[in-house]
Amino acid sequence: MAGVERFVVQPYAMQAKFIKSATNLRDCPQDRIPEIAFMGRSNAGKSSLLNALANQKKLAMVSASPGKTRLLNFFDVDGKYRIVDLPGYGFASRSAQERSDWSEMVEAFLTARRNLTGSLLIMDIRRDWTLDETHLLEWLMARELPMAIALTKSDKLGQSEILKRKAKLTADLKKLNYISAEIFIVSSLKKIGCQEIEDFIFKSWIKNNRKIAPSESF
Ligand code: GDP
Repeated sequence: MAGVERFVVQPYAMQAKFIKSATNLRDCPQDRIPEIAFMGRSNAGKSSLLNALANQKKLAMVSASPGKTRLLNFFDVDGKYRIVDLPGYGFASRSAQERSDWSEMVEAFLTARRNLTGSLLIMDIRRDWTLDETHLLEWLMARELPMAIALTKSDKLGQSEILKRKAKLTADLKKLNYISAEIFIVSSLKKIGCQEIEDFIFKSWIKNNRKIAPSESF
């Protein structure tokens, strides 16, 4: 094989790096780079998915570190777009004040942040759709921001159970008149569904995205 170069094919992983945190729209990056919101109930597997997508064990630890769990955390992806990790919701122990602070910040961000071109709702495949997810969906629908769903921890169920859970979710969404969500079956542990999500985000929401006008970015 002398003279023949040998290439080792590495599995592709997005290059993601933490940029900054923000508590409100004014603190968010002021530019025209498209963004994808990552939303999910606490413990749904949002950090694990972010780490699996980026093939880094500790990337999303930034979001989970003390003081940052209630912030909007921005990650640059391949210098092409940003993932915005939204604070998790649904902690039973949180006070009414904390829950209303969460709603205020997340609603403001989802409804008014012009850089957003898509959103990913991360749900534990074993959990049902709740009123919390309906609120998120209403905010997205108000501005027609597309949403895809990642059903995480699928390694915990057998194939027939996975299909049942997906069918149930599709039926629940139909009741809300939402029929266009792409649903991904994911296991961050086994790296199932990660490449599909990354390809989908790029092809559907980034590649052909019209330029965000400077005046629209806030
Ligand atoms: P977050 O609060 O939404 O960021 O959730 P984490 O990513 O911290 O995950 C919550 C728990 O679920 C942790 O114990 C993870 O190890 C576990 N978990 C997350 N993703 C998976 C998965 O794909 N498979 C399995 N079996 N466990 C997972």
